[in-house]
Amino acid sequence: MLTTLRQIIQEVSSAQDFKEALSIIVRRIVKALNTQACSIFLLDRRHGEYVLMATQGLNTKAVGKIRIPLSQGLIGLIGEREEPLNIDDASKHPHFLRVAEAKEEAYKAFLGAPIIYHRQVLGVLIVQQEEPRRYDESEEAFLVTLATQLAAIIAHAEATGALTELLESSKNKAYALVLSGIPSSPGIGIGTGVVVYTPFNLDTIPDHEPDDIEAEVELLEYALTAVREDLRILSERLYSTLPSEERALFDVYQQILSSPELLDEITQAIRRNNWAPGALREIIQTHIRRLESLENEYMRERATDIKDLGHRILTYLQKNERALPQYAEKTILIGEELTPANLAEVPTECLVGAISANGSSNSHVAILARAMKVPTVMGVSDIPIHELQDKEIIVDGYFGQIYLAPSPALQTEFQRLIQEQKKIDATLETTRDKPAVTKDGYRITLMVNTGLDGDISLSLAAGAEGVGLYRTEIPFLMRDSFPTSEEQRIIYRQLLASFSPHPVTMRTLDVGGDKPLPYFSIREDNPFLGWRGMRITLDHPEIFLSQVRAMMRASESLNNLHILLPMITDVNEADEAIRLIKKAYKEVVDEEHAIIMPPIGLMIEVPSAVYQARALAKRVDFLSIGSNDLTQYILAVDRNNARVANLYDSLHPAVLRALIQVVEGGHHEGKHVSICGEMAGDPAAIILLLAMGFDSLSMSPSSISRMKWIIRHFTYKKATKLLQEVLMMESAVIIRTHMESALERAGLGDLIRAKR
Ligand code: PEP
Ligand code: MG
Repeated sequence: MLTTLRQIIQEVSSAQDFKEALSIIVRRIVKALNTQACSIFLLDRRHGEYVLMATQGLNTKAVGKIRIPLSQGLIGLIGEREEPLNIDDASKHPHFLRVAEAKEEAYKAFLGAPIIYHRQVLGVLIVQQEEPRRYDESEEAFLVTLATQLAAIIAHAEATGALTELLESSKNKAYALVLSGIPSSPGIGIGTGVVVYTPFNLDTIPDHEPDDIEAEVELLEYALTAVREDLRILSERLYSTLPSEERALFDVYQQILSSPELLDEITQAIRRNNWAPGALREIIQTHIRRLESLENEYMRERATDIKDLGHRILTYLQKNERALPQYAEKTILIGEELTPANLAEVPTECLVGAISANGSSNSHVAILARAMKVPTVMGVSDIPIHELQDKEIIVDGYFGQIYLAPSPALQTEFQRLIQEQKKIDATLETTRDKPAVTKDGYRITLMVNTGLDGDISLSLAAGAEGVGLYRTEIPFLMRDSFPTSEEQRIIYRQLLASFSPHPVTMRTLDVGGDKPLPYFSIREDNPFLGWRGMRITLDHPEIFLSQVRAMMRASESLNNLHILLPMITDVNEADEAIRLIKKAYKEVVDEEHAIIMPPIGLMIEVPSAVYQARALAKRVDFLSIGSNDLTQYILAVDRNNARVANLYDSLHPAVLRALIQVVEGGHHEGKHVSICGEMAGDPAAIILLLAMGFDSLSMSPSSISRMKWIIRHFTYKKATKLLQEVLMMESAVIIRTHMESALERAGLGDLIRAKR
């Protein structure tokens, strides 16, 4: 090996230029290690990305074009850890990042070494091979040694400017930038970025071309004057009560606001073709960055003042209602923290994808996206949000990746995937009017979860046998105030009539947690353990009664209403809610509406309800497990937190045992037990739910055909055997792998991949 090393170095030193030196290295390494691919990624510090600069074995046309953000993929991991990485199957590694242009699908074995010079990472050197194997120690030592030699060559190129020249020339022809997040709603979306931002949050304001530059300048002047006036009034009012130090703050604010420089700078940014809010953000952020980098503590503190002023000015700019997004024909909705309302506001025919910097696949917005079949990626923490307005973007909801500025070739590749998925969907659709029955004759009822006014048709088209969960909070979230009882009755009537004679299970208002009502503010340190769901409505019986009465009046002559109570933690809550429902019923009957008393059910969403399943079942007609919340509360994992999303898995043995306990408890009391969390639409879970004896499963309309297909291609006998097997296992990862390989063996592998 030593001789080979010397030969390579000799050959490299006689190379004409830096670029040629890199290609000699990759060529010679492939030969020396008798492997199939070798590539060099160099760090472009200016843009914070590793750039593919030389390769043998990957797509040579992608040299200079593939750019991987610092903390992403295996390359990012090696750079971050500053250690070699040797793995037999790279695609199974949690940090694996699929970059379509690389054309590396066939490669499994992967060995990479960081290129470090004077303690600084300059890049990463990797080798790859089709056959899954681990490179041996001598091969690893060889690569590490070559990486150190390479480091000196790169450092020299850096010193002479050759490296910068190469990196900069490649930047202009870059392929898509790939970012990773959490796959949250399957499918591929190709469209144009439309950024929605929290009102009055300066940091998330996008750049935007103005229609009329002069009007933007005028708006800015108006906003500055208005803020000056506000501060003057405030300062006068507080003059006698504020200590002089605080009063001085107002003077500082006034000075900044009155300075001709500020107005001038923002105006110039507008004239560079940005709308007023975007120009304001740009200038304020520049000032903040400058102030924060100063040594002087007093001056650093001024950054906070500037920030505050920025928000105040923005408030006035936005009061003029210029912040309403203009939806593109094919909108990819992007936000710091998308909400169900953001999604619901986009005309459905325009919405082709969604991306949220925060949140996870179990956030309500993700659930809604799945129901609406909108490909979605959540938790893309390093997304440059305000650069994405009007930009071409691809959302890969299967793998949780987004491609910014995709090349035409990449777009064609993804169009092909969309067509393939359509074919699979068409096959699944053939089960639409067939029952959910296993090959050995076990029948189960499949229902839909719904909530959006517009998705009734979707749910009907899915071939469901009723609504297992109607999230009534969605109409509440989309309004400026509580809907009246009559407004509610009209909405509920439409749903009950559409599904009649099938049952419709309406859940009473379940707000709080991650579903705050805009007009009903709740501030708590721990909202998921605080005032949410039933706790709120029991404290506000007027809201509860008005809703229940609306439901009952809506069901007149249809009689297919079921009422479901969320977040029950205690029998007293159940008793009180039932008492109120009976009271509402009596009132409605007294008003001479011909209504039968609807069946009442409880949601099992917290551990205490699991342990009391029997006692709770005794009081009602049915139980329905909310596995989304139940998983979060059993595992103590926030369902919305991207950072702990890898810990959230409903196939955890503790969750599975809880489900069995609830089914047994309910059945002991002769009551119907269903499940309406996202778990019911998970291919790896559905077989187990079948075997546990649930009477019905309720899921997103987009999952029904896929789940029915699985049930119809499986036997109940095999399902019970699998349940027994997984109950012997001790971790969710093992259980999931076990279930996925069972599906693969049954020829249903495509459906798991589609789920991703
Ligand atoms: C659940 O928690 O599983 C559930 C169905 O309710 P939601 O997702 O609306 O909290
Ligand atoms: Mg819930």
